[in-house]
Amino acid sequence: MTIYSHSRISTFENCPYQYKLRYIDKIKVDVPTTIECFMGDLVHRTLEKLYKDKKFMKEDSKKELLKFYKDLWKKEYSDDILIAKADQGLTSENYRKMGLKFIEDYYDKHKPFDQLTILGLETMDRMTLPDGNQWHVRIDKLACDDDGNYYVCDYKTNARMKDQEEADADRQLALYSIWVKDKFKDAKSVKLVWHMLAFNKDAVSERTDEQLKKLQQDVCDKIKEIESATEFPRNQSGLCNYCVYKSICPSFRHEFELEEKTVEEFKKDDGVVLVDEYSEIKMKLGELKKKDEELKVKLVEYGKQFDVDAIYGSNKIARLKEFEKIVMPEDREKFIGLLKEKGLWEEYSMVCYGRLNSSVIGGKVDDWVRDAIDVVRDVRVSLGKRKDVEDE
Ligand code: SF4
Repeated sequence: MTIYSHSRISTFENCPYQYKLRYIDKIKVDVPTTIECFMGDLVHRTLEKLYKDKKFMKEDSKKELLKFYKDLWKKEYSDDILIAKADQGLTSENYRKMGLKFIEDYYDKHKPFDQLTILGLETMDRMTLPDGNQWHVRIDKLACDDDGNYYVCDYKTNARMKDQEEADADRQLALYSIWVKDKFKDAKSVKLVWHMLAFNKDAVSERTDEQLKKLQQDVCDKIKEIESATEFPRNQSGLCNYCVYKSICPSFRHEFELEEKTVEEFKKDDGVVLVDEYSEIKMKLGELKKKDEELKVKLVEYGKQFDVDAIYGSNKIARLKEFEKIVMPEDREKFIGLLKEKGLWEEYSMVCYGRLNSSVIGGKVDDWVRDAIDVVRDVRVSLGKRKDVEDE
């Protein structure tokens, strides 16, 4: 039995290799706190205080609440908090003010905070999935009204508004509604609410029992896929920039190692030498291929001009021999149809290696095809441009 969560499953979906490092190899790395997380945490704690105090009949004024946030910031902010957008001119003060604005807007919109009965704040629990695994439940604010409607609320400090399509596809809160329905038998409906604090708007979604059943099944299928995985390929994407394992990931480790080297050491690095040589050769090959085509055209022109079909060099002879060749019809499909109609397709068609390769590797062929073909491992070498280096 394992405890799964939305974040654990998302990690596997985004990059199976990152999943392996984090959940299987349990590699520990120093993760700097980002300013977004720091500010988000303080906003969460401030709104938690608002509702906690209210429970004890203490109504915080907006001023008190903002002071609480400001004091927390003063006490807990440290210079090692990462401001990734510092290069865009953003400072900690910008984020501090953003948090203040979020709290202020939320306060004005929801005052006097008695529209709903608060059942839980930062609720933590586990629920058992149909496959016996556990699902981690953590709800920022759980509330209900007098009509049996329950509300699973999440505070979001993202700079991007969640649209309806995204809210309706969200897995995290949707699974929590199963937990709510199980815990509160009087629940007539469970509404999933994202307080999008940067926009002072809410995104709301609700799932039918059927949708929840399917979602739960999809999650169990995904867990099965994770637990039976024997390979954990790397999936490079924009998310790599936020990956805490980037410096040890084989797709980026060499870059990090080079950053530690002096200019001299960099130039002598075996990898750098190989790539530079390979890149030069590829460039020369490209130029030579172009030159080869140009020379062939010139030789044919020379042959025509001087009416010769053998041109003599110092050591070699270039012979020119005319031959006939076909040009495929523009409408290939029609032509292939004709060949099939006339029973000639078998004779002129051949196996498409690329399509066969991807079908076999993707497991999309019958067993007899798979059994007749060996699958071996090979390495493709391709050259790409380093985004962090200016063109010379
Ligand atoms: S850096 Fe990218 S490819 Fe490497 S583990 Fe992280 S997410 Fe995966």
